[in-house]
Amino acid sequence: MRPKHWEKNIFELIRRTSTDLPNDVESYLKRAYNREQKGSRAHWSLSVIMENIASARENDLPLCQDTGTLIFYFKVPVGFDTNMLAAKARVAVAKATRKGYLRQNTIDSVTGASIETNIAHSAPVFHFEQGARKTVEVILVMKGGGCENVGVQYSLPDTDLDAGRDLDGVRKCVLDAVWRAQGYGCAPGVLGVCIGGDRATGYAHSKEQFQRKLSDKSPVKVIARLENRILKEAQQLDIGPMGMGGKTTLLGVKVGALSRLPASFFVSISYMCWAFRRRGVLLGPEGGIKRWLY
Ligand code: SF4
Repeated sequence: MRPKHWEKNIFELIRRTSTDLPNDVESYLKRAYNREQKGSRAHWSLSVIMENIASARENDLPLCQDTGTLIFYFKVPVGFDTNMLAAKARVAVAKATRKGYLRQNTIDSVTGASIETNIAHSAPVFHFEQGARKTVEVILVMKGGGCENVGVQYSLPDTDLDAGRDLDGVRKCVLDAVWRAQGYGCAPGVLGVCIGGDRATGYAHSKEQFQRKLSDKSPVKVIARLENRILKEAQQLDIGPMGMGGKTTLLGVKVGALSRLPASFFVSISYMCWAFRRRGVLLGPEGGIKRWLY
């Protein structure tokens, strides 16, 4: 095992994630820009976003000053040393912070003190899963605070929304969340939704949806139809980029489902802003790069 490879390549993953949007997100933003009417505020907002993206890439600078919560998803071979991997990722995060790819973005919730390294209890966030293959897959999602603040969880039935315990009830909750997020969260956004689960697993699963490409459709037909319908109806709300009106309120809707208890029916919604920083890499048994994902 070559420890330096792990650290170096996870650092590179952080650098890429912070400074350069994945192709699918950038191409959906371009498509939105072409769809909006020339001279409209939506068109102008998207042009500023596109310039921001190009400038961050060219100058090797973070796409947004809020470099967000770092959420790592690791898929490792059976028996792999995950403690080593977590330790290397922490070193890489501290280095990326020193080099300015990450803002000092972690606060001690009790004292209010800033944690200079971005290394603290639950920072960064790690999820590990064992798989049959010999490679290590590392996906990093950086989730900004503004869009995190507009995440919301509903408990069905919801009489205010006339939402029952069915997929139409889910649809009403999601559209309500989009409406409530207008002007916040830096639209156009992407929604990660979880139907079911408990309060904690529901939110976690809603964020897992952000690993899916924007072109990805749910393999469950009824869910795929729901994703399409919500996306279509959200675009008709005229919230638009940065909440200034227009045809593009969302770039995508990704819905997953977990089982639930008879007494509970949660709908958990996580909102990702236009700065949808999600990158991944496949590393070999020694930590060398096999290929980049996304
Ligand atoms: S919501 Fe996203 S784009 Fe807006 S400030 Fe936060 S990280 Fe940046």
